[in-house]
Amino acid sequence: MYYFTGNSRIRFLFEKILQLLFPMGTYCICCGKYIDLTRTYCLCDQCMTAINWGHIFIDLDEERREAGRTKYLDSALSCMVYGLHSRRLVFDLKYNKKTFMARPISMIMADRLTSDESLKDILSSIDITVPVPLHRQKKKKRGFNQAELIASGLTSRLNSLKISTKKIRLISDCLIRNRSTLAQRSVTGEQRFANLEGAFSFNEKYSSALSGASVLLVDDIFTTGATADRCARILKENGAKAVHFISLATGNDFLKGAFRERDDEDFLADLL
Ligand SMILES: [Zn+2]
Repeated sequence: MYYFTGNSRIRFLFEKILQLLFPMGTYCICCGKYIDLTRTYCLCDQCMTAINWGHIFIDLDEERREAGRTKYLDSALSCMVYGLHSRRLVFDLKYNKKTFMARPISMIMADRLTSDESLKDILSSIDITVPVPLHRQKKKKRGFNQAELIASGLTSRLNSLKISTKKIRLISDCLIRNRSTLAQRSVTGEQRFANLEGAFSFNEKYSSALSGASVLLVDDIFTTGATADRCARILKENGAKAVHFISLATGNDFLKGAFRERDDEDFLADLL
């Protein structure tokens, strides 16, 4: 692949440029190991196998019993269990600014959604995708909202797969985050509820688009469900007919028998 043999500095530069141009095609996005271009989602076989693909449905009834905070979501889905590997994916995207990772992450999510027959009705009902918003200052500091990047990739992928006769519309600024909130995992019970009071509002210019629409709310992680539910409440108060939620990963807290039975192997078998 490399044509420079004499000058190692030039070769080093050439490799750096290649990495910048084609970061997904050269290294595993999770562990950094060199991989060829044929690997699914730019993940090496070891990471692919080590990821805990979990179960795609988050049982909201269980959530309601546990936290009493998920009243407005119609369904919640997640593609993997939050652990070492998924944490690495999310951290690299979010904090190490590897924005190119949003694409394979959204591909994983689209494939997980479309590979499950029982999700067909939900998917074909979706009119709009909405990312969980970041506060303006936080977005400015980070340079992007990871949920927005994922929602964008996911929307394009779902539209290209023609899962529905209608075209799904991405509305990135449908919800507005009025202030930064403490990480939900760092607060408990009532604090969690108070932490979100007034945190989100609706962008009125989308009133007619939202009226009677089914929304797919997108985030990188589902932790307590309180944030997603608050977003769902605002969407419903402003005319949404249904709000379904999808995240890349979900925390171990919700593994207490709350997931639908489905083995990782079912999903992996088709990919390796
Ligand atoms: Zn790897």
